[in-house]
Amino acid sequence: MIRVSVDNTKCIAAGLCVGREPGIFDQNDDDGLVFVHRENVLPGEQEGVIESERICPSGAIAVHTD
Ligand code: SF4
Repeated sequence: MIRVSVDNTKCIAAGLCVGREPGIFDQNDDDGLVFVHRENVLPGEQEGVIESERICPSGAIAVHTD
């Protein structure tokens, strides 16, 4: 299983990750900065989370392999 974390001091609220994997990523209503609903990524979400890490323009997403 993989885990995901976000550094929202790097996030620029572009929303690409939320569009790709909305079950994991979401944005604050006030400032648009990202947060994760759930750190542990289910098998069906892995591809979207790994792609989100790749496409995030600010490098805010980190995928961890246990
Ligand atoms: S893709 Fe990156 S910059 Fe955009 S909302 Fe997600 S974490 Fe923030």
